[in-house]
Amino acid sequence: MTAPALLDRLTRALGADAVLTAPDAIAPYLRERRGLYAGAAVAVARPGDTEGVATTVRLCAEHGAAVVPQGGNTGLCGGAVAEAGNVILSLERLDRIRRVDADDFTLTAEAGCTLAAVQQAAAEVDRLFPLGYAAEAECQIGGNLATNAGGMNVLRYGNARDLVLGLEVVLGDGRVWNGLRRLRKDNSGYDLRDLFIGAEGTLGIITAAVLKLFPAPRHRATALVALDDPQAAVALLGQLRGASADAVTTCELMGRTPLAMAIAHGEGCAEPFDEVHPWYLLVELTSSRVHDDLPGLLGTALNDPAAPVRRWRIAANAAEAAALWRLRNQIPPAQKGAGASIKNDISVPVSRVPVLIEQATAAVAELDPNVRVCAFGHVGDGNIHFNLSQPEGADPQAFLAQWETFTRRVHDVALELEGSFAAEHGIGLLKPGEVARLKDPVEQDLMRRLKAALDPDGRLNPGKVVPACRGPISRP
Ligand code: FAD
Repeated sequence: MTAPALLDRLTRALGADAVLTAPDAIAPYLRERRGLYAGAAVAVARPGDTEGVATTVRLCAEHGAAVVPQGGNTGLCGGAVAEAGNVILSLERLDRIRRVDADDFTLTAEAGCTLAAVQQAAAEVDRLFPLGYAAEAECQIGGNLATNAGGMNVLRYGNARDLVLGLEVVLGDGRVWNGLRRLRKDNSGYDLRDLFIGAEGTLGIITAAVLKLFPAPRHRATALVALDDPQAAVALLGQLRGASADAVTTCELMGRTPLAMAIAHGEGCAEPFDEVHPWYLLVELTSSRVHDDLPGLLGTALNDPAAPVRRWRIAANAAEAAALWRLRNQIPPAQKGAGASIKNDISVPVSRVPVLIEQATAAVAELDPNVRVCAFGHVGDGNIHFNLSQPEGADPQAFLAQWETFTRRVHDVALELEGSFAAEHGIGLLKPGEVARLKDPVEQDLMRRLKAALDPDGRLNPGKVVPACRGPISRP
């Protein structure tokens, strides 16, 4: 069958407004965040409910078209990028909070709810949904689960995977798996839920989820600490976790280079201390207990002569805390102001972060001593964004042409330290080659078998995650 036949059936099933084909209308869905890939698609389908998602998948299967699910399109690995002949399935109209069960500490949200909307729905019943990071107003909970997103609070609450009880998923043949259970305990068979989390839409399309909620925090203390080196960050984190009975929610390491970029090119960022320091740590403690004095506790811990700190300041109010957070959150956009950059999202056991940074810096310097290392990130999770900015004055395109050379060297260092080459952003189109190069062959074989079992015709997000699973040539 031809593209017009598929488009005609999709339009009749979903409604004319729900199927976009005009180049101007589909252009925003083709855009890729980092400009690494040029997308294409025969159409964007925007069903309004689970049944509409199932119909879209079934019709695409009947016409041999591949389906690329898309949430907020904030992913950083090209996972939501489609190619000619594909249908992009946008979840944006599945944006209802289906139920909130405060006594169960659960909330059931449709996949297209933004992360900020989920946080807000939880806050309205005095609960916390703890997943959070800079793109929360744009990214969607379905995308967060499909990528097993991390963010700022993983240290205390875990990744997206740890925050889910149940899922509703549309399978590759258009059937709906209703696994929307609100149970804390359920050992009644294989854990299918976890298969779809982190699968980046290659095994099924998440349409709704039961999410775990937590008591809302009543107290918060935020500090910026200046340090000699990353080793001091690891030591301080251990001390603060002990001293606060594990109230540390956020622990973000920043090298001087990225912090200076935020101050130079970011919005509303100012030098935090009178002097310049080599490393900085943003720490935040939160507590739901009524009588806690977190700023007092944090001050006592940082004043301890055994604390490996150079200088520190604790935010006196919410505005000061926001100013400290801006220094961290403005690093990624500010890096653009410093020219082209090559990004690495790597992880190791927390204690190995210092040696990771040391060895990866040395490996990069061997390739080009003028590359600027921009290391920052979630040190409490062992996850560093080991980004590289082009040498000053260098040709951006020539620098980007070396993406694979640099990233391979950095990934090799992470792997030698028992780490991962894909910590929280996923694989997408960017890293299937690294899966093939670096992942255990047995693990790769199991991944291929799972893909073949759940998507035998390779129509769900082909070319992503699993090496050499390109799927059929699209022929709508
Ligand atoms: P998309 O980008 O639309 O899609 C991502 C992948 O999921 C694609 O493979 C897509 O096909 C698939 N997908 C989307 N929706 C579904 C669905 N309903 N069912 C099945 N598959 C689906 N990530 C972190 O983990 N931690 C961070 O701290 C972080 N910070 C960021 C900061 C900024 C400024 C930006 C721009 C991004 C950041 N990210 C971070 C990356 C990104 O926000 C996450 O990967 C996010 O989870 C993607 O959600 P999305 O809705 O935008 O998904």
